[in-house]
Amino acid sequence: MRLSPPLPTPPPIRSARALLPLPVTVAVVLAALLVPTSLGADEPLCGACQTTGRIAHEHPAFDHENETDDIEFCSVSMELDPEALGLDWVPCPKCLAPSKKEAAEREWNGLMELRKKWLADRREVDTLTKTTLMHVQTKHFVLTWGIPKIKVGKRVLKEHEAMHLYAKRLEETYQRILDLCGIDESAMVSTRVRVFMFEGLREAQIAAPVYTNNPISSGQKTNLIGAPESSLVSWDDPEKILNNDEYRHQFLVHAVSHNLWHLVREYTFWLFKEYGWVYEGLAYYMETTQFGTPLVSCGQEQIEEPNWKGKCWESNVKKALIAGKEPSVLDVMAKSADQLSPMERQFAWSYIDYLMWENPGKMDDMIRVMKFDQKPTRDALKEAYGLSMGQFIDNWTAFVRSEYSSKPFKGPKERTPKVPARPKDGAGSGDSD
Ligand SMILES: [Zn+2]
Ligand SMILES: [Zn+2]
Ligand SMILES: [Zn+2]
Repeated sequence: MRLSPPLPTPPPIRSARALLPLPVTVAVVLAALLVPTSLGADEPLCGACQTTGRIAHEHPAFDHENETDDIEFCSVSMELDPEALGLDWVPCPKCLAPSKKEAAEREWNGLMELRKKWLADRREVDTLTKTTLMHVQTKHFVLTWGIPKIKVGKRVLKEHEAMHLYAKRLEETYQRILDLCGIDESAMVSTRVRVFMFEGLREAQIAAPVYTNNPISSGQKTNLIGAPESSLVSWDDPEKILNNDEYRHQFLVHAVSHNLWHLVREYTFWLFKEYGWVYEGLAYYMETTQFGTPLVSCGQEQIEEPNWKGKCWESNVKKALIAGKEPSVLDVMAKSADQLSPMERQFAWSYIDYLMWENPGKMDDMIRVMKFDQKPTRDALKEAYGLSMGQFIDNWTAFVRSEYSSKPFKGPKERTPKVPARPKDGAGSGDSD
């Protein structure tokens, strides 16, 4: 099992118009930097910089005012501002206070070096694919974007705005996983997921083997799951995305949730092999609660027809249960993700659906028992949820009967859990913002 080293967190890019509000930690650091430290005995004061060594730098003709995320780096913003690469200060050019000047320049050089390296690293994929792409780094993702424009509702978003929308959506998906399990950052492996969203298959085919160790032949996406390397390469497959941004978003949520669930207390590939119903169930849970009917079939999941009978999986499950034609719970739970039939897969979703309804805060406990102790599902259910296998089957059956509709429906279905998710003991004491 590999442990992920902590990543350096550079200060976020801030335009002059986006100075407020600062995260507390950043504000504290800035305050510390602004307090004049002892000057040399004869050192003069500098009016130009109030003897801080730094003067404010306004980003030329560009800002990120529409983005509320913590954007750490954006290639567009940096490249429009060759002088400061998107930083909001520069060293005082004719500083009268030599010690301040020296300290500011030292810090400046470090930050510039970091930024130049980040840009150079990002541009590798541009060179490989012989295209000019855009790149953005947020707290948990590095997104590389190659789709010139997208239509969201009635609005057409150009490349840069579209990229930031998806950066925001990625962070929202991350936050949803924390919220669903009632956990905080400390329960996550610290790594940034690299996400590549291309328009064409050609670029995806070039990037996929390099960044995920997997080829894309005809699929829409491929992932590398785990830590410290976690990545996803996708393209706008016209047969699947249909130039529909809702579908694009839904595909992304499903696919990247595979990466993210594996970062919850360092889940690794064991989930896929040993507890296929959980692996399946969690990705589909993300998809169906947000979008409704599941659309996405992952390469490893070998789905020919995700809707084995009718488009609405809930009514499929309920009808089969009422007719006494449901697969055995024990059989489904014994299979790896790639062994599940389309019908069994939908039952796997409903087991997870039930458990998340029963108590979303226990899901994390259950997975931890599976992960660290590698105990059989029977024991994991007992330890986390206090349910015997017989109780699980009875409760799940009652849940499907009372909560599922026999009538097919469309659209997202958000079920209110019996017990709301909330942070566990000790959670919330960190400095997450
Ligand atoms: Zn940007
Ligand atoms: Zn100065
Ligand atoms: Zn999947």
